[in-house]
Amino acid sequence: MRYFPVIVVGGGLAGLRAALEVNMHNIPVCVLSRVHPVRSHSLAAQGGINGALGNHVRGSNDSVEKHAFDTVKGSDYLGDQDAIIRMCNDAPLRIYEMEHWGCPFSRTSEGKIAQRPFGGAGFPRTAYAEDKTGHVLLHTLYEQVVRFEHSSERADITVLDEMLVTSLAVDDGRCTGVIALNLKTGNFEAFQSDAVIFATGGSGRVYSNSTNALISTALGAYIPFKDGAPLKDMEFIQFHPTTLIGTNILMTEGCRGEGGFLVNNKGERFLANYEDSKKAMEVAPRDIVARNIQREIDAGRGFENSYVHLDIRHLGEKKINERLPGIRDLCIKFANIDPVTDPIPVQPGQHYTMGGIDTDINGASDIKGLFAAGECACVSVHGANRLGGNSLLETIVYGAIAGKSCAEYVSSLAQTKTGAEKVEAKLRDEERRAREIVAKDGDYLICDVRDELAQTMAQKVGLFRKEDQLRSALEDIERAKDKFKKVKFNAKSKSLSYNYEFINYLETEASICVSEVIVKGALERKESRGSHFRLDFPKRDDANFLKHTVARYSKEGITLSYKPVKIVKWEPKERKY
Ligand SMILES: Cc1cc2nc3c(=O)[nH]c(=O)nc-3n(C[C@H](O)[C@H](O)[C@H](O)COP(=O)(O)OP(=O)(O)OC[C@H]3O[C@@H](n4cnc5c(N)ncnc54)[C@H](O)[C@@H]3O)c2cc1C
Repeated sequence: MRYFPVIVVGGGLAGLRAALEVNMHNIPVCVLSRVHPVRSHSLAAQGGINGALGNHVRGSNDSVEKHAFDTVKGSDYLGDQDAIIRMCNDAPLRIYEMEHWGCPFSRTSEGKIAQRPFGGAGFPRTAYAEDKTGHVLLHTLYEQVVRFEHSSERADITVLDEMLVTSLAVDDGRCTGVIALNLKTGNFEAFQSDAVIFATGGSGRVYSNSTNALISTALGAYIPFKDGAPLKDMEFIQFHPTTLIGTNILMTEGCRGEGGFLVNNKGERFLANYEDSKKAMEVAPRDIVARNIQREIDAGRGFENSYVHLDIRHLGEKKINERLPGIRDLCIKFANIDPVTDPIPVQPGQHYTMGGIDTDINGASDIKGLFAAGECACVSVHGANRLGGNSLLETIVYGAIAGKSCAEYVSSLAQTKTGAEKVEAKLRDEERRAREIVAKDGDYLICDVRDELAQTMAQKVGLFRKEDQLRSALEDIERAKDKFKKVKFNAKSKSLSYNYEFINYLETEASICVSEVIVKGALERKESRGSHFRLDFPKRDDANFLKHTVARYSKEGITLSYKPVKIVKWEPKERKY
């Protein structure tokens, strides 16, 4: 059994930033990641990262207060305002820190960090590097991690990739380590620690039509959930307005921020016909644009009943190559069209998990010694709807905050390196469970159970929701549970080394549970707020639902309770655009 004072699960932006912060406190830290850190989904982020830098004439009066207010309003007043103010306040600091670590942001003609308009602000607030912002941020952080891997300056950062964490070890309410499957060897390994930071990203792959990487599964939310950490606001799923038809690959909001149009089959910029998008048009908040695209398609004004056009041709080849080269490349490779000469066929798709592991403003969860940051966590800064560009920001701001509070927690412990027996026992549990899984010989294929459920989520728990559809989704989930009890382990090899059938089993189990949390939360929230739109309750209802949903796990089932939203500055108002 290996011991590290702090273990970070996840090597994306949130995980690496948290690990660096722990390292700045001179505490040894180990990052466990199922893929090499620079293959995390953060890498795929295209459009940019928000911060009130005010680097453009049109955005020169920007301020932390304006950024915070836009975020609160975008969240449909469900975001916790203290957490939002903290994030917006730290934004310039964290962005300049990335710049000083060598992050190659795109530049203005004066050499300042360039910013583009995204939803929410209406002027340039989103710093970017072409359309590869996540790529450059992640590589910059990874370079810093490598710098401290074996450094005489500070305690070591150890990175172990191809390590799939499958379970926590919790001893008397305190997290004392994790169990991971070493994907190379196929053996389970025990890691004892004084604290654990979860940074496992979003649960997007619960849906079949997601922009997320295949590794963005519900496993990261499920592992702490089943050990007692509540999940918050999981019914709020963001659907991005513009994903490429066929694959649902993201076409960044930057396409519209740079001046792209959304057009229906009549050649109209249809957003002008809707009250909530006629002013901001293509840069209105995501939930609004996504719903209005879907309304056009449903009204027969889309193409082939399934998409509209995102037209960037008028930007010209030079600007497209300069600002959106990745988009051009993706369109050519995955849709066989060139956006310089053709409109891009797009439809809304699952994009972001607003909810997650419930944490306080310092990243601490309900389990002592367990922290969370990034997309898997819910602080909550996005409330009912995330503004584009705020998620990359959350990863580095709250990654650093969780790292700091975790380091302080570890330094304050009277006794470290505790709970060894529990970790050993958990290791044996996991080995036993794995033997049972590979011996399963039932009637159903694991992949079928998972795919059917992902279809249910896309069709019945999507952009528009209704009681009968949500109830029908719950029935599908019950059916999935039954089938899951009767699956067969279909892979010939029972070795766990790179055994995708085994990983799929764990992910499907997580998917079933997290889907149930999403649907139950959506069913009980009898109002429309942000991304959660109920056709049978089309209005926001602050009197009854200005509150966070908190889901808890027990062997008997999932229970829901509520807790208040922190309103410290702006009283809820109707969203007007
Ligand atoms: C296509 C796309 C474009 C986006 N563009 C933008 C944008 O322009 N601006 C913006 O603000 N946001 C954007 N987002 C959102 C943003 O990129 C993500 O929310 C953010 O990067 C998530 O970072 P993270 O560190 O929380 O998780 P991730 O980057 O997803 O990293 C998760 C890590 O956890 C590890 N992991 C997961 N489960 C386990 C396990 N069980 N055991 C071990 N390791 C595990 C993985 O290996 C990975 O290293 C975009 C998202 C997508 C999908």
